[in-house]
Amino acid sequence: MKKSILYFLILLASASNLNAQESDSKTSDIKSLRRDVSYLADDKLEGRETGTKGERMAAKFIRKRYAKIGVKPLGSYAQKFSKKIRPADIDPHKDIDLDTVKATVVKGLNVTGIIDNGAPTSIVIGAHYDHLGWGGAGSLAPGIRAIHNGADDNASGVATMLLLADWLKDTLKKHNYIFIAFSGEEKGLWGSNFFVKNTDYPIEKFDYMINMDMVGRLNDERKLAVNGSGTSPSWKPALEKANTSALKVVQKESGIGPSDHTSFYLADIPVLHFFTGQHSDYHKPSDDVEKVNFEGMYDVASYIFNVIVALEETEKLAFTKTKDESSETPRFKVTLGVVPDYLFDGTGMRLDGVREGKPAKNAGMQKGDIVLQMGDVEVKNMMSYMKALGQFEKGQSTTVRFKRGEDEQEVQVTF
Ligand SMILES: [Zn+2]
Repeated sequence: MKKSILYFLILLASASNLNAQESDSKTSDIKSLRRDVSYLADDKLEGRETGTKGERMAAKFIRKRYAKIGVKPLGSYAQKFSKKIRPADIDPHKDIDLDTVKATVVKGLNVTGIIDNGAPTSIVIGAHYDHLGWGGAGSLAPGIRAIHNGADDNASGVATMLLLADWLKDTLKKHNYIFIAFSGEEKGLWGSNFFVKNTDYPIEKFDYMINMDMVGRLNDERKLAVNGSGTSPSWKPALEKANTSALKVVQKESGIGPSDHTSFYLADIPVLHFFTGQHSDYHKPSDDVEKVNFEGMYDVASYIFNVIVALEETEKLAFTKTKDESSETPRFKVTLGVVPDYLFDGTGMRLDGVREGKPAKNAGMQKGDIVLQMGDVEVKNMMSYMKALGQFEKGQSTTVRFKRGEDEQEVQVTF
């Protein structure tokens, strides 16, 4: 055998050995993702509603996982808060009959930890761990009392956060890494809002924040939404450079969205929110562990890790406000009763679902319809949809123009 061929064979053998090691650690990482989601989305946690025993069990589990990985307490592992619910605290996008909400005190807790590398700045990595409990106001299965396990929303985000903690421990050293499992997200971003306003840790030292909310349903198209890409000029090049897993990344610039990154964006911190998309089990008892794509979660985690690596040399990211935020939060007196498709790229607002007994459904609108106009207002995107909605009163009727397949149609909608 010629020496050069022998050398080639040795190279080949060591390369395949390396591949085997890599795939071994991937297999065990996927196992750990599955274990974490399975525990958090188990019936015995009863849907992890904020203020319940099930949520506290989840918090204890996350704290133990932090300790095992080597994530230290950020002061304490538990940042407690309590909140008196008033109707004004309820997210206007969610269909809630305000008259049915009674004032009560709810106690929540964020599970907070840190990998402290003695660095001048810190990166925040977060995911909410609360969900809807037995249903109630936030459920899309109204009238059904059943455990909402929230495997995708958001056991998937918490498990991915824990895997990232494991990967970051003893590898990257130029920042500190703060991990937060948020409570109270489903009630209206309570935990993240409280953290930003009450942490003892100086938030001007936060380099950026990464939020994972619903990352468990990567589909065959491999479409991944990344919201907040306009919140720093550093994001776009890093997001492109980091995409080595052939994900179809759909960027949205806005730092404001329906999850915890919004609280950090509003404190002038660059943010990204990773999201594998809406599905028909969203906020329903059927959001279960069997439907989670663990390989997909591993790919999302790898992608996020690559983004962090790509920005490792940057001490502090510049913050930019995104143009599509409005100075005041629009408040709505009416609802169309739809689930918007947050991943939709085109003109208009595509419906991922219509809610039973609500105006859109009553008018004969369907999942997949793309709203183009409401009354006098052209609907180009989510923001103009919200503006359009803002002009109506309960009981009023208007014409909604929408696209279904290739055809445009008009219906009368009564709010
Ligand atoms: Zn969520």
